[in-house]
Amino acid sequence: MPIDQRIDALHAPGLVDMHYDLGMDLYEKRHEPGALVRDYRDDMRAGGMGVVAAAIYLEDRYIPEMALRVALGQIARIIEEAEDPEAARDFAVCRSVADLDAAAAAQKIALVLTMEGVEPIGTDLNLLRIFHALGVRMIGLTHVRRNMAGDGGVFKAQGSSREGLTAFGKDVVRACESLGIMVDLAHINPAGFDDILSMATKPVSVSHSNARRYFDIERNMTDDQIRAVGEQGGVIGINAVLVSPDKTETTLDRYVDHVEHVAALAGIDAVGIGFDFFERIFNRLPAAERAVLGHIHFVPDLNNHSHARNVTRRLIERGWADADIAKFLYGNWRRLIRSAGWQG
Ligand SMILES: [Zn+2]
Repeated sequence: MPIDQRIDALHAPGLVDMHYDLGMDLYEKRHEPGALVRDYRDDMRAGGMGVVAAAIYLEDRYIPEMALRVALGQIARIIEEAEDPEAARDFAVCRSVADLDAAAAAQKIALVLTMEGVEPIGTDLNLLRIFHALGVRMIGLTHVRRNMAGDGGVFKAQGSSREGLTAFGKDVVRACESLGIMVDLAHINPAGFDDILSMATKPVSVSHSNARRYFDIERNMTDDQIRAVGEQGGVIGINAVLVSPDKTETTLDRYVDHVEHVAALAGIDAVGIGFDFFERIFNRLPAAERAVLGHIHFVPDLNNHSHARNVTRRLIERGWADADIAKFLYGNWRRLIRSAGWQG
């Protein structure tokens, strides 16, 4: 079979990308209706996306007073944009496994609401219930900064807080599990990571984190952490942003090296996509926020969803079997979502 036809067949069921800062971008463009179709649809269609996790993330300037308001504003923009008549032919905001199945049957791109950092709920677990009612189905406790739940891992080889989750952070984990919200370990510091794994009763997600073997920062994962997620039945989404500290090594091949490293340590059932394409958002951030993230490079042929085919092509070229590629592209995340029992 010609390779392009093989990629078409592999992409037909719809890829799952469990991290994209869509809420933040649509909120900043709230005075430009139609941004979802104009800026995203064609790339997502070209890449064969089936499910895209639309993250709610708050820039520093909104913390703390505006966090709740802006989080709600982001959700409002995602729903408003997706339900616009032109967008609704291509997108559906999904809150349950049944919604995802319906979106797939209608050949629509499913948008799933997620949260990156619990600043919007402050210390009020009641608000977690409200965000669940609005459709939030995966939550990472922190971004880089410290909040009421815990600390983020720094973008350096050492220096993260040694403290684990706060008592409130542990309450959030328990409440997420009982509501059917997946707990996301991307960004949490090493001590918080251990806390969550030791208390989780369901398989965890790591929506967008890479291997420290190739990019040694505490925001990424050690080999032991990667193995632990695999043993626990979780899934790790490989991101296209933290591929290498070295610009010349920030390549599609090095991205695939991360995929293969995680698959080798945690198992083929534990690796998925968490692209985190955010070059255009990064370029708009204030200099102080860019500085916290260190020297980030973007992979030239993997910086938007239309480039997903390049990854599949490279996996084929490296001799991956189709069944394993399918697990990476969508199968593992779909399994985890079903096990989380999303209902809405
Ligand atoms: Zn992130």
